Amino acid sequence: TDGFDPHSLRAQFPAFNTPGWVYLDSAATAQKPQPVIDAISRSYMMPTANVHRGQHQASLSATEQFEQARRDVAHFIGANPHNIVWTRGATEAINLIAYGLSHSLTPQDDILVSEMEHHANLIPWQLMAQRTGAQLVKIPCCPRTGTIDMKVYQQRLTARTRIVAISHVSNVTGTRHPIEEMTQVAHKFGATVIIDGAQGIVHEPVCMQTLNTDYYVFSGHKLYGPTGIGVLYGKPEALNALSPFHGGGKMITDVSFDHHTLASIPARFEAGTPNTAGAIGLAAAIDWLKQQDSQAIDAHITSCYQQLIDALRARPRIRLIAPQATSSMVSFVVGDEHHADVAELLAQQGIAVRSGHHCAHPFIKALGVDGTIRVSLAAYNTYQDITQFIAALDKTLDLLDI
Ligand code: PMP
Repeated sequence: TDGFDPHSLRAQFPAFNTPGWVYLDSAATAQKPQPVIDAISRSYMMPTANVHRGQHQASLSATEQFEQARRDVAHFIGANPHNIVWTRGATEAINLIAYGLSHSLTPQDDILVSEMEHHANLIPWQLMAQRTGAQLVKIPCCPRTGTIDMKVYQQRLTARTRIVAISHVSNVTGTRHPIEEMTQVAHKFGATVIIDGAQGIVHEPVCMQTLNTDYYVFSGHKLYGPTGIGVLYGKPEALNALSPFHGGGKMITDVSFDHHTLASIPARFEAGTPNTAGAIGLAAAIDWLKQQDSQAIDAHITSCYQQLIDALRARPRIRLIAPQATSSMVSFVVGDEHHADVAELLAQQGIAVRSGHHCAHPFIKALGVDGTIRVSLAAYNTYQDITQFIAALDKTLDLLDI
């Protein structure tokens, strides 16, 4: 692709100094560029202190960096910093929302969840349905195309619908859902919309102002940032509608022995000492991303994806599972072979892919398979990675024929 050198981008990732491996599992977690590692390490090398808890210089400085990270994240997604809650990741953010809404759920309410969700966007809703008697309603997918049928989705929406929970991008097929349209229609029924952006935010810019979702969540570690940090965005009224998930220090304004007054948002959701280094690391990842040519990266990933799909299609024993026209990932199966055996043979040749159900059992069942092999791409992958992967796959096919 014009003017984009994946090798110089890749050189910023120390993980690739380790020779002899091909990393095609970035949808599980991304490698980290040096500036992210430096930001985390700097935050521990300076005199350390707890945030929001001291008048001394180290605490003020830690607080300033922590809150600057919140402003950076807010700016990155077109939101106000007051609407950004730090969590441990997408999983915790969805649990926080589900728990926070459960006090207002009744057996007369429907919770619509797509069949394609990661367990992180299904189990919290199952738990809250069990607790409140609310009905969990499936938004089915088409197993051939790996997409949601908008007509069926609209039929599932009724006056009972309280919640619609949907991923931005599937972590199994890479399907990009029509979240703008789905949000708009859900709002016509007065439903609250939760978008799981764990995969989506990695590959396209998002703007909360235009998307107009009630909540959007994601994890730092898939966005070239650290593990253990994630983001819950909510509209002010949506955040104010949640009862806190955790109680503890810093989420209150006043406490007596038998009573407390909650702090305003977002502090009321951030009980306890936060992951300061994680927030600073995520802000560094966002800063790093902003310095990259995102259009060139997208074009490069699309072109690697095309090379990958073409090579897989040329091999008759490979069956692609609901491949998308363009994406950063693809799932497939190899004849009748078990996905774990194929992944193991690839691993022996230094190729890192994911195999299994990808934490999406219902979707895997709907696709009519017992698991897939998933190849997922990131900015640092090269054409050479694809070539090496295909060579290893051919060797695997040969071995399995024996
Ligand atoms: N949703 C989707 C679509 C995902 O791909 C993942 C991570 N595999 C999650 C949620 C959960 O993210 P985390 O484990 O970082 O909380």
